[in-house]
Amino acid sequence: MPIKTVKDVDVTSKRVLLRVDFNVPMEKSGGGIRDDTRIRVCLPTIRYLLEHRAKIICCSHLGRPKGKIDETLRMAPVAKRLSELLGQPVKSLKECVGQEVEKTVSAMNDGDIVLLENLRFYPGEEKNDSEFARGLAKLAHVFVNDAFGASHRAHASVVGVTNYLPSVAGFLMEKEVTSLGGLLEKPEKPFAAVIGGAKVSDKLDVLDNIVPSVDVLIIGGGMSATFLKSQGNRVGKSVVEDDKIQYVRDLSEQAKSHDVRLLLPADVVVSPTLDGTSETRTVSVKDIPDGWLIADIGPQTIADYTGAIKGCKTVFWNGPMGVFEVSQFAMGTREVASAISKLDAVKVVGGGSTVEAVTKLGVADQMTHVSTGGGATLEFISGKQLPGVKALAENKLEAPAIS
Ligand code: ADP
Ligand code: MG
Repeated sequence: MPIKTVKDVDVTSKRVLLRVDFNVPMEKSGGGIRDDTRIRVCLPTIRYLLEHRAKIICCSHLGRPKGKIDETLRMAPVAKRLSELLGQPVKSLKECVGQEVEKTVSAMNDGDIVLLENLRFYPGEEKNDSEFARGLAKLAHVFVNDAFGASHRAHASVVGVTNYLPSVAGFLMEKEVTSLGGLLEKPEKPFAAVIGGAKVSDKLDVLDNIVPSVDVLIIGGGMSATFLKSQGNRVGKSVVEDDKIQYVRDLSEQAKSHDVRLLLPADVVVSPTLDGTSETRTVSVKDIPDGWLIADIGPQTIADYTGAIKGCKTVFWNGPMGVFEVSQFAMGTREVASAISKLDAVKVVGGGSTVEAVTKLGVADQMTHVSTGGGATLEFISGKQLPGVKALAENKLEAPAIS
């Protein structure tokens, strides 16, 4: 279903409630922001609104205060960073709803921007409480959702407000829905999915939904242990999800019935521990020593995998190939990242750790789309309709037309 965007409504001189995902990682002490990516990715929408002389009322959650005020999770440092990035003041408010906030926003000038307090200080936010949603909606004329990363949650600032305000998508939301939706709807073939990461159980829905549309399914990371064991290999003390062995067998059958090439590691890097302090060896998957763990894919597997994606026109990658945080076990992830980045194809990367890896490796800007959604991205690829996206698609409230 197509969704309206910020370009479809008149925002000039209007108060715009802009839901963003400014849930940035904070330093352990001192209140500094460790990584401002989540702020930067919303700048195109914010700049567009400023250029069109809207009055922007930004709102976001930060951390997990669970409905209570937590002094360490106030939004003020985020407002400060946003202000630095924009080169204009961003007023940080101490509340989200109520008379004080209403007074402040009604005094805003065109092109002003304020940031409300942490939405999750209010128990009504996560409960999608209608009174809290109405309190937020009361502040503005239009609602813009640019918080793709929060749109798998039916919360008041994501879903509830759309009952009371004309609601449209921001540019980040639009790009996420278009890029990820494109993978599911009409991927150019051949289509390869590269799935790794820690556990099979985190990826069941993604695997199920993507198998029918891919030509190649490549498995790496810790979860390959469960696949290898399902085929009768001994995997040492690698974590195996025994209750998923049958699932993995069924998935392999499903792959076969759809003519999907399912690739598992042929060789792996193993070690007695995963922290990089022990000896490492590269062995065939037939020869994993007892008491050792799979930590990365080996060189033969790297060659197989990079060979298999060559010539593909669409690639979706989620989940590192090994414990990439430890340098001895980063080669698989590095080589796969590099191979994907060089393809002449639609290249989409998602998942918290995977995005961190491609960013650290400096290949993020060679990808077609690096999804910022984390859990929301995986739910989208699993084929679930995200409540926040659905709410935009179904919104019927009359927006101020462009004059
Ligand atoms: P994403 O966040 O991209 O969706 P996951 O959360 O599924 O990815 O998995 C990321 C984690 O998987 C990383 O912390 C990485 O160290 C871990 N991992 C990768 N390979 C292995 C392995 N062989 N054994 C244990 N953990 C692994
Ligand atoms: Mg993760």
